[in-house]
Amino acid sequence: MLRTEGRFIMTQQFDTAPLPKATLHEHIEGTVTPELAVKLAARHGVSLPDNFIMKEGTYDKKDFPNGRYAYDESDFWAFINTYDSVADLVRTPQDYYDVAKDYLSKTAAQGGVYAEMILSPMHMAVEINPETGKSELSPKRYAAMLNSITQAAADVKKETGLETRFIATAVRNLGAENVKEVAEFVRDNPHPMVTGFGIAGNERAGKFDDFAEALDIAKKSGLKLALHAGEICGPDSIKDAVRLGASRIGHGVSAVQDPQVMKDLAEKGVMVEVCPTSNRILVNELKGDLANHPARKLYDAGIAISLNPDDAGIFGTNTGKEHRISQKEFFFKKAEMYDITLCAVEKSFADVKTRKQVKETIYQKMSAEDRKEMAQLAADAKNPVLKERLERRVVESEKVAKKMEIQKKKAQTFSAMKTNRLAALKKKAFSR
Ligand SMILES: [Zn+2]
Repeated sequence: MLRTEGRFIMTQQFDTAPLPKATLHEHIEGTVTPELAVKLAARHGVSLPDNFIMKEGTYDKKDFPNGRYAYDESDFWAFINTYDSVADLVRTPQDYYDVAKDYLSKTAAQGGVYAEMILSPMHMAVEINPETGKSELSPKRYAAMLNSITQAAADVKKETGLETRFIATAVRNLGAENVKEVAEFVRDNPHPMVTGFGIAGNERAGKFDDFAEALDIAKKSGLKLALHAGEICGPDSIKDAVRLGASRIGHGVSAVQDPQVMKDLAEKGVMVEVCPTSNRILVNELKGDLANHPARKLYDAGIAISLNPDDAGIFGTNTGKEHRISQKEFFFKKAEMYDITLCAVEKSFADVKTRKQVKETIYQKMSAEDRKEMAQLAADAKNPVLKERLERRVVESEKVAKKMEIQKKKAQTFSAMKTNRLAALKKKAFSR
């Protein structure tokens, strides 16, 4: 029995663990688990305060397998302090390698087939210029960090097949000038794995129009835009982000306050990157309860959504947990979860060929039963954008199923031919 809008209904529960998953919103420094923070602190000779991490036995280890930070979830500044302290532990290329490897390996183990990570040059590439004595963005430092992270992604891909891409992000509370400087820096230091540009940080700092020039620079460099909006600020911030060319909105919780914004997001195919645990902790309107989260409403309105950890390590979550929570709290059916993952891959910032390959991998995991459920969902869908998308999913999934069937038959025929030939050869040898 599950609760929805004050009523009690029967909703089918299922295990989300085996489902393929794609995440698009995760800040690299935010992935650091307490376990890893302890290792990094030891590496750099930093002593963590006594009350920084919860003691074993004082929290549910099953829910927080890699430890739990001790900050009070209702205190925003306690969270920010923890985030900053953890980010400060990630200093060298080796640190970035270990952090990326840890997060991406865990993501792959939880069914991840595609993951994007948000990298902030202001966090990872600033150093003191010995000539001027000033802190500035260093192309050399950026390249060293980026190469380490790329190596970690390549190693995880080799082991598990997980595809990864990166989004370079600016921090809006550092000011419009700095945001522009970061955009220019990213343009001047291109990297094949950096395929997107973002704006994160305190949403209340400035309006999107202040960053129009920076966003223009990023767009002209061929980068797609994923902008944090509608988390703390209202639906107007989402409207502005879309107007300035965002392909994806980070959080977008307040979209639900404006039906026109909801309609625009659905019709223009702008994705909302939903981050359930992060939103429960940081978005006041939810009052700490995911029953107040609009994810289900966004989905039913035809908006392409993805499910993301945001800061997996700091929030004590991960890709698998966010999918488990979403199924339970938003009552997503299995075929809907498949649709959400396929949406994430379609709206990802990978090249066309990679997107196509990853989508096929996901369709291959769907059973005949899943395809039947998808067809039923398509038939029942009221929103025209959602209906059209689900109908397309049915066609695409059947195409992949047929392809698999043909491949299976070919393999069977081939192995039968081989057996027959061997038998014939044996007979021939015997008759001599
Ligand atoms: Zn974020």
